[in-house]
Amino acid sequence: MTLRDETKSLLLRLGVAPDRFEGGAMASFSPVSGAQVGALTPDTAEGAAAAVERAATAFRAWRMVPAPRRGELVRLLGEELRAAKADLGRLVSIEAGKSPSEGLGEVQEMIDICDFAVGLSRQLYGLTIATERPGHRMMETWHPLGPVGVITAFNFPVAVWAWNAALALVCGDPVLWKPSEKTPLTALASMAVFARAAARFGALPEGLAQVLIGGPELGEVLVESPKVALISATGSTRMGRIVGPRVAARFGRSILELGGNNAGVVCASADLDMALRAVAFGAMGTAGQRCTTMRRLFVHESVYDALVPRLVRAYASVSIGNPLETNALVGPLIDRAAYEAMQAALTAARAAGGTVHGGSRVEIGGEDAYYVRPALVEMPAQTGPVLEETFAPILYVMRWSAFDAVIEDHNAVGAGLSSSIFTLDLREMEQFLSAAGSDCGIANVNIGTSGAEIGGAFGGEKETGGGRESGSDAWKGYMRRATNTINFSRELPLAQGVVFDID
Ligand code: NAD
Repeated sequence: MTLRDETKSLLLRLGVAPDRFEGGAMASFSPVSGAQVGALTPDTAEGAAAAVERAATAFRAWRMVPAPRRGELVRLLGEELRAAKADLGRLVSIEAGKSPSEGLGEVQEMIDICDFAVGLSRQLYGLTIATERPGHRMMETWHPLGPVGVITAFNFPVAVWAWNAALALVCGDPVLWKPSEKTPLTALASMAVFARAAARFGALPEGLAQVLIGGPELGEVLVESPKVALISATGSTRMGRIVGPRVAARFGRSILELGGNNAGVVCASADLDMALRAVAFGAMGTAGQRCTTMRRLFVHESVYDALVPRLVRAYASVSIGNPLETNALVGPLIDRAAYEAMQAALTAARAAGGTVHGGSRVEIGGEDAYYVRPALVEMPAQTGPVLEETFAPILYVMRWSAFDAVIEDHNAVGAGLSSSIFTLDLREMEQFLSAAGSDCGIANVNIGTSGAEIGGAFGGEKETGGGRESGSDAWKGYMRRATNTINFSRELPLAQGVVFDID
């Protein structure tokens, strides 16, 4: 069976109508072999504008549905995702090139956030606050916000939608999804799974959950529309630099989940066996195409020679292969542009004095597929390409000797997503986690930078955009907070002792 045939049978089993992925002008490809696997009909800007109107109408009805009842829809979505896990996970592997376990893991993440959101639907708590006025009560209530535009990146083609959609739906918000143009098929499949949950739920407002297939121009419709209350945009910092100011210009709300340039710090006391494994997964897993991929590694000079040669050997021997046919740990890059960006970064690293191990193309999957051996680059200093995110498996390794200085270097890049320290020293650990430590949204100890669970709030600082989604209290970003003061007395005292008596 060809990859296109397998893709077709998966899409049909998942419930996608053939006219959604056949016969259209928008080609979609699998990075596994570079083969075309779909021909979709893209949505138009006018169609996107109409979708916004439908979402705005749906909001008026959905916001009045009690939150636990809204949670029931998400519970059913979780059930349908469980039933679809094998097929959807396989489709993720085909479309994004992930290993089978990572493809399935991504669907598991969707299921996990559904479970979380179902519980949340009964816990959208507000506070009761002490008031200075007698006979008064003050409280906070949380209300649905409005339609949420979800713009997603290719590398987590379905999980990021679920992170947003599960929360938005229980919070009372319709969802408009603009998936990456590189991964439209998994988006269609996810919507088909949602449609089954919706059918079991019963009557739902039209336009509660919609998908827009196409390029950035459709995302721009969402970004520009005042009826889209929140833009949750995941992708490059380049994209965020455009989207963020545009949403702000109309006083919209945004959650920006942008690029990372994540680092690990290996200390003299580190468990080096553990650090080796954590760094290998963090830096080479998903072929370096996670926002949380470890891209920089600072190794204490006393353990450099004990760790780095072992890492170089791991890089030389890690299995690279077709994720659909092998158990290889490293699959393909998404496309030719990613390969070229990687080679350009390695050229720049050499020019900056780096010693490059690996990094060359591996002939797997045909001429339109881009498999590479991950690159480990020993750098004399943190300069040139080390300061930027290149979305490919490159790990820049540097020595350090003074703890305060390595923290400075750790924080001296634009992005601020994820970080980790490998140490058995209590002082180093606590300093790394303190206000004077890592400046990232995620700071870990003795685990790598990637592989977050849904229970915590996910996101990062600085050029990563400052947004938070998924667990903890990230739901507050999807709701409108109202402070209510209720006077149950027969007087009208003013706060701060202000007097304003009229006769
Ligand atoms: P990308 O920025 O090229 O595209 C992301 C999405 O933005 C796509 O859907 C694209 O169509 C859309 N888009 C692009 N320009 C737009 C515009 N002007 N207006 C509206 N929408 C626009 O990113 P990518 O290559 O798909 O993904 C890789 C990047 O995403 C990396 O930088 C990675 O670090 C980042 N990422 C971040 C997170 C996170 O949570 N912080 C998660 C995954 C990926």
